[in-house]
Amino acid sequence: MKTSQLTAHEILEQYSAKKLSSASVCDAVWQEIDQKEKDIHAYAEVFPKESAIINYDGNNCPIPVAIKDNICIASKATTCCSKILKGFVAPYDATVIEKLKNSSAIFVGHANMDEFAFGSSTETSCYGPTRNPCDLSRVPGGSSGGSVAAVAGNEAIWSLGSDTGGSIRQPAAYCGVVGLKPTYGRVSRYGLIAFASSLDQIGPVTKDVTDSALLLNIIAGHDPKDSTSANVLVPDYTKSLINNVKGLKIGLPKEYFIEGLDAEVKAKVMDAVALLKSLGAEFKEISLPHSKYAIACYYIVATAEASSNLGRFDGVQYGLRVQPSKTRKTNIVDMYEETRDQGFGAEAKRRIMLGTYSLSSGYYDAYYLKGLKVRTMIKNDFDRAFEDVDAIITPTAPTTAFKLGAKMNDPISMYLNDIFTTPANLSGIPAISVPCGNSKENLPIGLQIMAKPFAEEMLFRIAYTYEKNKV
Ligand code: GLN
Repeated sequence: MKTSQLTAHEILEQYSAKKLSSASVCDAVWQEIDQKEKDIHAYAEVFPKESAIINYDGNNCPIPVAIKDNICIASKATTCCSKILKGFVAPYDATVIEKLKNSSAIFVGHANMDEFAFGSSTETSCYGPTRNPCDLSRVPGGSSGGSVAAVAGNEAIWSLGSDTGGSIRQPAAYCGVVGLKPTYGRVSRYGLIAFASSLDQIGPVTKDVTDSALLLNIIAGHDPKDSTSANVLVPDYTKSLINNVKGLKIGLPKEYFIEGLDAEVKAKVMDAVALLKSLGAEFKEISLPHSKYAIACYYIVATAEASSNLGRFDGVQYGLRVQPSKTRKTNIVDMYEETRDQGFGAEAKRRIMLGTYSLSSGYYDAYYLKGLKVRTMIKNDFDRAFEDVDAIITPTAPTTAFKLGAKMNDPISMYLNDIFTTPANLSGIPAISVPCGNSKENLPIGLQIMAKPFAEEMLFRIAYTYEKNKV
């Protein structure tokens, strides 16, 4: 096996046996980039290898990691893959970056993403799309498509993405890697450029479940700089890598196995269920009746928060500034308008308009307030379900990766992709996507496992058992 194909835990073992140096791991990763990046385009910016190499001292983790372009790295351009942030250089490190630096991680580059994380295909990036390493004619999913493609294409050993409505899990499913959205508050959002502040979480993208636990160990924890981060003890997640699901109760929500779910995706998920059953897990059908409103609810709440968060990009404080042409009357409002008109792409503009509409005084009660009420009902369904089951299993996405361009002119069908992933964000619960086989066209399929708030250990235990026993 090539060095670039190894997992972080395999690399760490080889470091400690002195069979591998971090310089050779970097060589392997940057070599993959030299060969594949022109086709995959996982990165908005690749950092120079020379400045990256750090030696292993027995305790640290010099592992090459890709960082989504909405997570600030001090002195590096951080642009959310939007023209409006071109030229913006982050003045400070996000807390997750500080934590990775303390563990000696090696930063490979800023990964490509949908503009401001609006999307499910990584096609709205101002730098152009990323392609799925498993099939270059297809999208990698999104919005963390670059982070995921980097790991799936061996252009990084692990990466960080962000997940507001599925942006880590859906691309992980499409590219055949492991993606985790931690509990809301588990990981600090300080230094993550906000999309929808009540939904956003940073999380790990890795080749296997063990690496996911290792990376969560590094990034989790309370942060006084993020008032929404939770002061809850961080366990050693590697202790929950237990190959045993005997006696665990797992729910299968009937509303998630519906029309529109691809037959092959359903079959692979049911194969995984059968395997876990044979290993001693007990399954029961449950109901999450309000999940059918999740897409509508998500696209109200998320766009409302986005329209407010994006208000700060006005040509004054960050990045791009466009002065209106001299022939027009010019005042500061013209400058704001010109900058925002040229700086934001079509999807960002659509979201700002949708969000501003549902927050406007005439429609606030009918849309935004109603959305918040529905959100509570969706969350209550999960609370009730978890009185009875330890975890819930569903498909991660309704289909496998689609062709580039297939949904770009049909926002509704693009939004429908998030049908199984948005409920976890609306409810704040943790969810993981693990690969569960391939379709006849050899495209990866993802299995989603959800658990109670702060029960990431349960996700790791089930995901690890599945990974160890699947054929
Ligand atoms: N696809 C969803 C959206 O476009 C989720 C994005 C995300 O999680 N950042 O909003």
